[in-house]
Parts: sequence; C-alpha cells; structure tokens
Amino acid sequence: MSRRLELVLALATLLLAGSTALSARTLVHAGALIDGVANSARERVTVIVDGGKIVAVENGWVEPGEGDEVVDLREQTVLPGLMDMHVHVAGELSPRQYLERFQLEAVDYAFRAVVYAERTLMAGFTTVRDLGAGGGVSISLRNAIAQGWVDGPRIFAAGKSLATTGGHADPTNGMASELFDDPGPYEGVINGVDEARAGVRQRYKEGADLIKITATGGVLSVAKNGQNPQFTEDEIRAIVETAADYGFHVAAHAHGAEGMKRAIRAGVRSIEHGSYMDAEAMELMKERGTFYVPTLLAGITVAEMAEIDGFFPDLVRPKAAAIGPLAVETFGKAYRAGVPIAFGTDSGVSKHGENGREFRYMVEAGMPPLEAIRAATVRCAELLGVSDTLGSVEAGKIADLVAVTGDPLADITLLERIDFVMKDGVVYKRP
Ligand SMILES: [Zn+2]
Repeated sequence: MSRRLELVLALATLLLAGSTALSARTLVHAGALIDGVANSARERVTVIVDGGKIVAVENGWVEPGEGDEVVDLREQTVLPGLMDMHVHVAGELSPRQYLERFQLEAVDYAFRAVVYAERTLMAGFTTVRDLGAGGGVSISLRNAIAQGWVDGPRIFAAGKSLATTGGHADPTNGMASELFDDPGPYEGVINGVDEARAGVRQRYKEGADLIKITATGGVLSVAKNGQNPQFTEDEIRAIVETAADYGFHVAAHAHGAEGMKRAIRAGVRSIEHGSYMDAEAMELMKERGTFYVPTLLAGITVAEMAEIDGFFPDLVRPKAAAIGPLAVETFGKAYRAGVPIAFGTDSGVSKHGENGREFRYMVEAGMPPLEAIRAATVRCAELLGVSDTLGSVEAGKIADLVAVTGDPLADITLLERIDFVMKDGVVYKRP
C-alpha cells in the first residue's frame, strides 16, 4: 500500500470516527427524575439523548454502548429545562436606568444582554419569553443564541411592547416634550384599531415571535396610576386578531382588574402580574384558559427597593411599595381558584440568573412544589404552544435538562442552585 493511500485511509477512518462520535448517544444517569408529567419523581432513571433530542427514558442506569457518553447525575434530581415566561433580557433595574435611556445606544444594552442571557441559562432556564426590549435587542439576541454565537436560553421575543399614549410602555413618559415627536406604532404607541394593527405588523416586520401589550398602568413607568385601563377592548381585539394572522399570541401586562378583563375578553393568551385580579377576572380566565404569569419576585424586589431613598422617582415609589405583598396574596387566591398558572419572574426587575427565587414565593403562597415545577415547565410549553417539543422529559422532546443535588420536592429553594444544564443536548454546566 502506498504511503499516500495509507494516509487517505487513516484520514477517512478519523473522519468516520469523528462523525460517529458526533452522533453518539449521551446517557444521563439520574438519581431521580421529575419529568414534568408524572405525579411523583422516579428513582434511578437513564435519559438517553441523541442528536439534541431525548430518544428514550429508561428505568435503571443503562450501560453505555461503544462511543456513548455517560453524564453521572446519580446524586442529583433531573428535571426538564426550566422556562420563564416573563423576562426583560436587555436590562436590569437600577437607579440609573431612567437616565441611561438618554445615554445608551441599543448596542450598549445588547452587550449587557449577552451577559444576562448567559446568567439565565446557567441558572437552569433553557427557554424564556422576553416581554419587551427596545432597539431590536431581544430579537437579535434570540438569533445570536440560536446560531451559536452566544450562550443563552432559547428566546421567544415580543420586541418592543405596545402601549397607548402615556401608557405604561410609552417610551417618552415623564420626558420633556420638546425632546421627542409624538411616538407612533413603530415606537410601540398606538391609538385606535388601525394603529393597533399597524403596531402588530411592525413587530412582525422586525421579527418578533409574539406581541406584548401594557393593558393597564404599571409600577415602574413615570406615571401616577399603576392600574388604570389603558386600551379600549376594541383596540385589544384588533391586536389579538391581527396577531393571530401571523401566528402570534398576545401577552398583556395588567395590574388593575378592569384593564385585565378587557384583555381577557379580547382573547389575550396571558395576564402578566395580575396584581388586582378579582374573582370575576379569575372566572373569566378559567373559562377561556387564559394563563396568569404571577411575577412575584418582581413585586417583592420593587417593594424592597422602594425602601431605599432616591432609588425610584417620587411618582414610582408609592406604587412600588404597595405591589409586593399584594402580588403574593393574589397568587394564593388565583391558585386556589384554579386559574391556569405559568411561571414568570419579570427578571430584569430582579437580577438575571436569580429567576429560581420565584419558586419559593409560589410555594410559600400555597402551591405544592411539584405544581410550581410544572408551572415552570409543561405549563409554559402549553402557553407557548410548543408542547410537542418542550416542557417535559419524554422521548421525542428536545433535550433540555437541568439537575439539582437533593430533592426539590422537599426543598424548593434547591432550584436556586442548579448544578447541571443541558440545552438542545449540549451540556453547559456540570456538577
Ligand atoms: Zn415586565
């Protein structure tokens, strides 16, 4: 055999070995598995991952075949990748944020967002819904993560939120009028059904995955009222109907009950915060299958910050102080009433990467730990309409797995310390 032929054969063998290694299976040996579906944890399970997908979940610790990689999580409890239905990955709460809007470019926010995204993933959140970012940051970040430029969670992005004039997401609130022209659908401010449709179509053009509206006043905007209704029902209905043309669902920020009910009746998929949700709103949500995304962590965080002099503008401070305790109380009532609940933190108000703290408040307010875990997995997949690929550890699903040391059903705060993260079959963190 010629030297050259030998080399060619050696190279071919290497290439073949390489491709075999790429398609080799990963066997995750789990001490226990909470799969998101069953009513209890299973002990001693192997999750078999191949090509970014879960191909089988078997009892016992399956012996590896040739070329198989074993991930030893025999001391850990494995869960589906966690999902957070309310984050703002482009920013984080600080006393400087009101001034920074005049100082920073979109690209400045984008660099920060890269760091926040990585923290989110390392905290075990493999999928998030970003409910509002300016400058296209969340949409570009979603693409960069999907293409492998940046480590972060899978993002479903709303782009810039839609508000009405002076509403919670009007970007010119509280600013000197000579600084800006009257904002329109492009900036996310709509008035009337025609502009409502234009706002949705603008987001479609920009590459959003869904629409976020601010159906009522909010805590952090520089405006007096945190709960007044800010859209007519017709405007919301126009948004929901137009959104459906593009396969989008609509998420509605809402604190006050009236704006919330208009949004529910108009057909939004989720109510964010829901602070002043009353019994009638709860009934409507059950009837229509509208999800409640509680964001307890945000309420608690802003109430804490309101105690610090000068942290918030004067108009914001009393709203922030009132909201924390109220959110937890409403959550307990809504859970007992049987309102569909999907996990969401409003991270960006709280620090990115601390998303897991939300669980302890849900459990303290009366939700059993397994239900809280399901709220952050299977329920989120339902909300997003991706139950066929995400939300549980079952054959055929995308291989998003996390693990903690110990039993999170006995101590839910373990979910604040995630030891293992796999997304799309790729391991990002090991014990
Ligand atoms: Zn938010």
